Amino acid sequence: MMLKEQPWVLTVPRVLDLLEVDKVNGLTAEQVKERNFTYGINRITTQAPPSLLALFFRQFKSILVGLLALAALVAALSGDVLDAAAIGLVLLINSVIGFITEVRAISSMESLRKIGQTHSRVVRAGEQTLTPAEDLVPGDILILEAGDVVTADCRIIESHNLNVDESALTGESVPVEKKPFVELDSDTNVSDRQNMLMKGTYLTRGVCRAVVTHIGMGTEIGKIAKLTASAEEEITPLEKRLDRLGRRLVVLTLFVSMVILISGLLTGKDTLLMIQTAIALAVATVPEGLPIVATIALARGLLIMSRKNALVNKLSAVETLGATSIIVTDKTGTLTENNMTLVEVVTEEGPFTVSRDENTQKINLLAKNGLPIFYTGAGEIMRRLIEVVGLCNDAHYNHGAESFGDPMEVALLRFSKEVIGDDKYLNTQYPRVSEVPFDSHTNMMATIHNVSNEKLVAVKGAPESVISRSRLSDEQKEAWRQQNRTLAERGLRVLAIAYKSEYQNDESVFDELELLGLVGLIDPARQDVPRSISQCHSAGIKVVMATGDQAGTALKIAKDIGLPQASLEPVLGKDLTGPWTQSLIDSIDKTSVFSRVSPEQKLQLVTHYQKQGAIVAMTGDGVNDAPALKKADIGIAMGQRGTQVAREAADMILKDDRFETIVYAVEQGRIIFSNIRKFVTYLLSCNISEVFIVGIAAVFSTKIPVTPLQILFLNLVTDVFPALALGMGNGDRSYLSNPPRKSEEKIIEKSHWYFIFLYGILITASVLAVFYLCLYLFLYSFEKVVTISFLTLGMAQVFHVFNLSGRNSNVFINEITKNPHVWGAVMLCVGLLVASVHVPFTQEVLDLLALSKKDWILVLGFSLLPSLGQLVLRMK
Ligand code: ADP
Ligand code: MG
Repeated sequence: MMLKEQPWVLTVPRVLDLLEVDKVNGLTAEQVKERNFTYGINRITTQAPPSLLALFFRQFKSILVGLLALAALVAALSGDVLDAAAIGLVLLINSVIGFITEVRAISSMESLRKIGQTHSRVVRAGEQTLTPAEDLVPGDILILEAGDVVTADCRIIESHNLNVDESALTGESVPVEKKPFVELDSDTNVSDRQNMLMKGTYLTRGVCRAVVTHIGMGTEIGKIAKLTASAEEEITPLEKRLDRLGRRLVVLTLFVSMVILISGLLTGKDTLLMIQTAIALAVATVPEGLPIVATIALARGLLIMSRKNALVNKLSAVETLGATSIIVTDKTGTLTENNMTLVEVVTEEGPFTVSRDENTQKINLLAKNGLPIFYTGAGEIMRRLIEVVGLCNDAHYNHGAESFGDPMEVALLRFSKEVIGDDKYLNTQYPRVSEVPFDSHTNMMATIHNVSNEKLVAVKGAPESVISRSRLSDEQKEAWRQQNRTLAERGLRVLAIAYKSEYQNDESVFDELELLGLVGLIDPARQDVPRSISQCHSAGIKVVMATGDQAGTALKIAKDIGLPQASLEPVLGKDLTGPWTQSLIDSIDKTSVFSRVSPEQKLQLVTHYQKQGAIVAMTGDGVNDAPALKKADIGIAMGQRGTQVAREAADMILKDDRFETIVYAVEQGRIIFSNIRKFVTYLLSCNISEVFIVGIAAVFSTKIPVTPLQILFLNLVTDVFPALALGMGNGDRSYLSNPPRKSEEKIIEKSHWYFIFLYGILITASVLAVFYLCLYLFLYSFEKVVTISFLTLGMAQVFHVFNLSGRNSNVFINEITKNPHVWGAVMLCVGLLVASVHVPFTQEVLDLLALSKKDWILVLGFSLLPSLGQLVLRMK
C-alpha cells in the first residue's frame, strides 16, 4: 500500500519523485482527489463500520426477538394466525425502531468525531491549508511545529532543531532528535528511523517540512493496531452499567414470568393464555433499548455543547463532567482576557509609563514627567530594552497589519516596533542566529543575534529567574525583587529583560546576564468570570487557579474574580517538590491559588485531589501539560492557544478558551446524566406496573386486564417515544445549585428504586381499580373492560412522563413541560392509543372496542390518578 519502497532508505528527492510531488507547491487538486479515492481515509480502524444491512440484521440478534418469535410460534401452534402475524409485525416495527435509533446514534457519533478532529497544515496547489487529518493522502507536504501531532507517516524534507516524542509508538519517553539528510539501512528499527516522522507522535521542539508516505492502516501505528485489534468501538462506562442493569433485570424478569405462569396455571387459567402472557411480560421488561437511548442522549448533548464552544470528543467524558468537584484552571487567557497591554517599564533610569493614544492607537513611552520619549532620544539602557523586547520575540506584528502569536509577545513587539518607528529595523540590524525557546522549567527565553562581528543574546523571562542570573550585587538583586513585587501586587504580569554581548558559542546563554529592567503588562480578568465562579460555588465545585505566573499577580486576579477570601494564601510550585509535610498538605487543601507551578506539579496536584476522592477537571495548553491532562478526570485543552498534543490528550476542548465554557459544560454534563436517569426511571416504572398488574391478576383473579399483544403494543410502540423525549431535555436553571453527584453514585440509586416502585404501584392500583369496577360493578362485556383497562394503562404511562420533573420544581412550569419533545411524544402516543381502538385492523388484532364518551372519561380519570397521587405526595 502507498509507497512500496522504504522511504528511510531513499534520498529526499527520490521520495518526492516516487510520490510525484513538488516539495514547494505540494499536490495538485486532481492528484489529491485521485489519491483520496485510491487510498481512502487516513484513519486507524480494525473493523470496517457496519453496513446498513448488517445493522438492520443485528437488530434481530437479541433476547427480545427470541422471545417474540417464541410468542408468535405459540400463537401459531394454537391456531391463532392473526395473533402470530401481529406479533411478527410488532417484531418488525421494533427492529425498525431499533435500526433507526442505532443509525442516528452512529451518525451523531460520526459528526462529533469530525468536529474534534485534528487539522494539519498542508501545502496543496501552492497554498497552505488547514486540512482535517483524515483527508491526508500520500504525497501531501506537511508543515509542522513544536506541539503539533504527526498525523501520518512522513519522510522529513527539511527541519530545524527537530525533536519528537515517540512514546506513543516506541514507549521511549525521551524525545528523539530528527533530521532529513541521513540515509538508513533497510532494516532500521522504527525507533531509529531518524529521517522519518511517525503518525501518533508529536513535536516537542523545532519545525519541519515533511512529505506523507503512508496513511491510515499503512502507518506504523496502524500496523500495530492491526496486530492488537485495539481500535475497538468505544463503550462508555455508563453504557456498560446500563447493560449490566439490563442483564440483571432480564434474570429477574424471567423469574417473575415463571412465577406468574405457574400461579396462573395453578389458579386454573387458560394454559395458552398464561404462556403468552408470561412471554409478553418478559418482553415488556427486557430493557433492551437502554444503552442505545443512552448513546443518543449522550451524543445529542455533546452536539449541543459543541455549538457552545465545548468540544467533548469522548462520550464517556460527559458522565464524569457532571460529577466534577474541582476545577483546576490556568489564569492567562482562561480567567483573564489574554489581551495584554504593556503599561509600565522600570529601568535604572527610573519608572516609565506606556500609553496608547485614544485616537491614533499609537503607543507612547512617557517619562516620569509625562513627556514622550523616542527611540533615538532614549537613554542607553532604555534603547537596548526597546530592542531586546522586540528581538527576543516570536510574534508577528507589522504596523497596520494583523498580528499573531502569544499576546504577551505581540504587545512587546508592538511596543518595540512603534517606539523605534521602523518595522524592518530590528531584523536588518540584528539578524537572528538561533533561539532557546521558552521553557516552563527555566521560565525564560533567549534569542541570539549577529551584530557586526559579535553575537548578542536577548533574554526575557520571569523576574526571579532572570534577576538571579544577572551580574548584580545581592543588594541590587534584592532591590529589583522588591520592584517586581510592587508591580505584581497591582496585578501586572511582570517580565525581566536582559541581554549579553560578546557571546561565545560554548557559554550558557542564561549566565552573567546584564539586567535592563522590568516590564509590566495588564491582562484584566474576564468580566463574566466572577459570575461563573459564584455559580461553581453554589454548585459545590471548588475552583483552583494553577498558574505559571508569580504569586502577587495571581493573587490580585484571584481577588478580582472572587475566589474565597480565606483561600488566598498562595502555595508555590517549588513547595510541592519538597516533602509533603502535614502542614503543607493543610495549606494545599486550603488554598485556591498555586503560583509558579510547572506542568509536573500540576500532575502532582491532580493526583493529590484524586486521592481525596475528588473528580478533577484541569486545563492545560502546552506540550508538557499532556500527562496531567490525561491524568485528570476531565482534561481540558484550549482551542485557541493550545497545542495539538494538549488537544489530543484532553477529553474536552474549549474553542473559546473561556472559563465560563467549562462551567457551562459541567452544567450540561449534569443535565445529560439526569436525562438518562429520567428515562431509565420512566421505563422501569412503566414496566413494573405491567408486571404488577398482570402478576396480581394472575394470582388473585380469574381474568387478566391486558392481553399479551396489548402489552407488546404498549412496550414496543408507545413507551419508546416519551423515553426518547426525556433523553432530549434541555434541563433548567437548577442544575448548578446542587452539590456534584458522587462519583460512585449509581444511575438508579435507592431513592430512585423507591420512586419507580411507588409509581409502578400507583399505576397498578388505578388500572386494577378501573378493571374490577367495570367488570363487577358496571358489568361491561369483557372486551370492553379490557379495552378500558388497556387504555387506562397506556394513558397513565404517557402522563407519567410529567411526574419526572424534579421534586422541588413547579408543578406546571418545569423542565419536562418546557421540553417540546415531550409534548410531541405525548401527542403521538395519545394519537396511537386513540387510533388503536378506532382503526379496524388494530381493533381486531388487539381485541379492542370503540368506546363511548362516558367510557373515555372513565379512562382519562383513572389514568390521571397516579399523577394526582404524586401531587399529593409532593405537597407533604
Ligand atoms: P501562565 O500560567 O501565566 O500562562 P506560563 O507557564 O505560560 O504562565 O509562564 C510562566 C512565566 O514564564 C510567566 O509568568 C512569565 O514570567 C514567563 N513567560 C511566559 N511566557 C514567556 C515567554 N514567551 N518568554 C519569556 N518568558 C515567558
Ligand atoms: Mg502561558
